[in-house]
Amino acid sequence: MDLEDIYDAYRIDPSFKHLRRRFNFVPGEGNTSANIMFVGEAPGRTEDREEKPFCGASGKVLNRMLESIDLKRDDCFVTNLLKYRPSTDNRDPTPQEIRDSLGYLGEEINSVNPRLIVTLGIIPARAFLPGNRFKNIKGTVNLLAVDLCLLVTYHPAYISYNHSAEAEYLEHFALIKGFADDKGSGDGQPS
Ligand code: URA
Repeated sequence: MDLEDIYDAYRIDPSFKHLRRRFNFVPGEGNTSANIMFVGEAPGRTEDREEKPFCGASGKVLNRMLESIDLKRDDCFVTNLLKYRPSTDNRDPTPQEIRDSLGYLGEEINSVNPRLIVTLGIIPARAFLPGNRFKNIKGTVNLLAVDLCLLVTYHPAYISYNHSAEAEYLEHFALIKGFADDKGSGDGQPS
C-alpha cells in the first residue's frame, strides 16, 4: 500500500471519529524511502494547526539533534503513532487509540522500508517493546526484523525541560548516524 492509501484509510476509520471532529489529520512527512524513520506519540497544538509532524517546539529540538549528526529532516521520515491530536489538554493517547493506530503504523513502516526506526518518548517505545521499563530500554538498539532495527530514545519535549539529559540524547543520536550513512543498495540490503 502506498502512503496516501494508508492515510486515506486512517482518515475515514470510524475508530478516530471522536478525534476527527475536533482535530486535523497529521500525516508523516519527509523522505518516503528514508533509512531512518522517527515515530513520535501524537501531534501537539502546533502540529494540529500546521498539519505537519514535529513542527513546533519539539520539532526544533529534533532538528537540532539531527544537525548534530549532519542530517536534515528531508533525509528522514518523521511520523507519529496517532495521526490526530488526542485532546486540547495534551492527554496521552488511550490504549485503544494506540491499538487502533498500530496497524496503520505497520503499513507506513512497510511502505517507507527504513533500516532504523527511532521511537521518541515512552508511548511509541511501549508500542514496540511492551512490558519494558523505559529507563531500561532507552538508548538501546533492538533488532526487529532482518535489516530493521529500533532505537529507543527520549521525546524531544523531555529534553526541553531536562537539559541535563541532552548529553545522553546526543549519544543516542550518534547511534543513528551509522544507519543513515549506509544507504544500502536500494533493495533493503546493506551496501
Ligand atoms: N509531540 C509528538 O509526539 N509529535 C509531534 O508531532 C509533536 C509533538
